[in-house]
Amino acid sequence: MVIGCILLAVYLAINVNNVIRSSRLQNHAQTDKVLLIDPGHGGRDGGTSASDGTVEKSINLAISMPLADMLRVFGYTVEVTRDSDCMICDSELVPLRQQKISDMKNRLKMYNKSRLTISIHQNHFSQSRYHGTQIFYGTKNEESKLLAASIRQVVLEKLQPQNTRELKKATNDIYLLCNSTAPAIVIECGFLSNSTELSKLKDKDYQQKMACAIACGVLAYDP
Ligand SMILES: [Zn+2]
Repeated sequence: MVIGCILLAVYLAINVNNVIRSSRLQNHAQTDKVLLIDPGHGGRDGGTSASDGTVEKSINLAISMPLADMLRVFGYTVEVTRDSDCMICDSELVPLRQQKISDMKNRLKMYNKSRLTISIHQNHFSQSRYHGTQIFYGTKNEESKLLAASIRQVVLEKLQPQNTRELKKATNDIYLLCNSTAPAIVIECGFLSNSTELSKLKDKDYQQKMACAIACGVLAYDP
């Protein structure tokens, strides 16, 4: 967290116009809506996994927690869909399929109550050569793409200058992005199927750098 805060301070000093920032934060204070950070999966739903047994849900949480902390430092009110290894489902539902449906519906309710949502995920592909952050944006609110573009710019600039991946509009299989009426994006931070990227994604320092880049992208985004 200390390293993250130092990085944050450096980014702030370099990239952020403080006058714009303070007026934006005042505007945020006037609305009671919060920023929502959604660490994908959790509990019985692990998401994808790496060959060494690393499970997506854990990396998602490890990036989401410092991200939420950093955004709070910026003055935002932040909520998270989960801060532990759990699903967001109604507990009386037992079969996994029903739990997943309940989980998605409950997350969607949170998305729609928030000013904007950033969902953190990890990628996986059968061919191990693919790597790099990929960002998807929601289809129902035009702010989603602007937010995604702002975050993509900082992530590429600060962490992945070789990354040529363009933003992608969510397809129907990304339920939350296709149904959220509030701005929402999914950040696939990296590929668990690429060994070099997997090592980075498991590294606490890199997790904080990723969180910091995303936080700075949020801050630079001007709604
Ligand atoms: Zn996922």
